[in-house]
Amino acid sequence: MSDCLFCKIAAGHIPCTEVFADENILAFRDIDPKAPTHILVIPRRHIPGLSAMTDDDTDLAGKLLMAATKIAAAEGLVPDGYRFVINNGEDGGQTVGHLHLHILGGRALAWPPG
Ligand code: AMP
Ligand code: ZN
Repeated sequence: MSDCLFCKIAAGHIPCTEVFADENILAFRDIDPKAPTHILVIPRRHIPGLSAMTDDDTDLAGKLLMAATKIAAAEGLVPDGYRFVINNGEDGGQTVGHLHLHILGGRALAWPPG
């Protein structure tokens, strides 16, 4: 997707503060952090969001979740805790149309979300 912000980041055309990268997944720090630790974990392949996923994406979904879990531990968020968020669609608060998982931590997070 040539006009997708996160595809451009994944391709290295827009800079990011990289935290983790492999052939399928990229993780980088959110440009406007909502917590002391705020990292975005994305598939390199363009998937618009959760509701665009199919059964063919099951393996990738697992890789995304496991990468995020390992990153959270590497960032020192265990044992205090952290939260994963995937906003989907307008009501879900999604603003970038490329699937991304937020890792939020480093402070006590309120519940329920707004
Ligand atoms: P969402 O609202 O769930 O779609 O999340 C999009 C996130 O992308 C927001 O938390 C933004 O702060 C973040 N963001 C937008 N542009 C960039 C960028 N160039 N680099 C890093 N994070 C970004
Ligand atoms: Zn994209």
